[in-house]
Amino acid sequence: MRILIASGNAKKRRELEELLAPEDIEVVGPAEVGDLPEVDEDQPTFLGNARKKAIAAATATGCLALADDSGLEVDHLGGAPGVRSARYAGEHGDDGANNKKLLEELGGVTESDRTARFVCALVLARPDGSSAVELVGTARGRILTAPRGDGDFGYDPLFEFAEEGFDQTGRSFAELSGSEKAAVSHRGRALRMLLGRLGETTTTGR
Ligand code: IMP
Repeated sequence: MRILIASGNAKKRRELEELLAPEDIEVVGPAEVGDLPEVDEDQPTFLGNARKKAIAAATATGCLALADDSGLEVDHLGGAPGVRSARYAGEHGDDGANNKKLLEELGGVTESDRTARFVCALVLARPDGSSAVELVGTARGRILTAPRGDGDFGYDPLFEFAEEGFDQTGRSFAELSGSEKAAVSHRGRALRMLLGRLGETTTTGR
């Protein structure tokens, strides 16, 4: 089986590629199939945006295409930044500016009210424009008062994983190795569910 990872975000693509690597799946990126179509991420849900991206890529390239739409939902902010996570501080999509804005919005908020979750919606679409598999993974934690760790992807340095019973509990996502993060992250969880459902994909594309 050959799957196109339909994402222009190199860090996200690398995480997905690493998770798929042990499987008997040929993974290709936009560089191998030509440019992906531009998609306006205007849907109100992660799943809606992931579906749009996956179907656009699959129909344009003739490949089975996997798209991820993901972000951070902070309880105290009514679920913001949510689907606007990449553009929270402006259309530039600057991680540093987004993290700064998040800390400002949560200024003075106590630890117990800083709960949040990462959400990852994955959609695998067929070249005929149908959606083969759709699912959502989440990871619960809280927002720190200052960045911790060297990981440079998105909100990782501000997100402390807080689910009980895991070795990763109490560390920020930026303090975890790639495999430690993948074991508990929203994206890792969603992808492992997807692997269990690949049999539902009857058309394999080219
Ligand atoms: P998307 O490309 O529209 O799905 O935007 C995803 C945005 O959500 C990223 O730019 C990050 O700000 C944030 N995000 C999603 N997943 C992660 C993660 O695993 N770590 C840190 N930030 C993430």
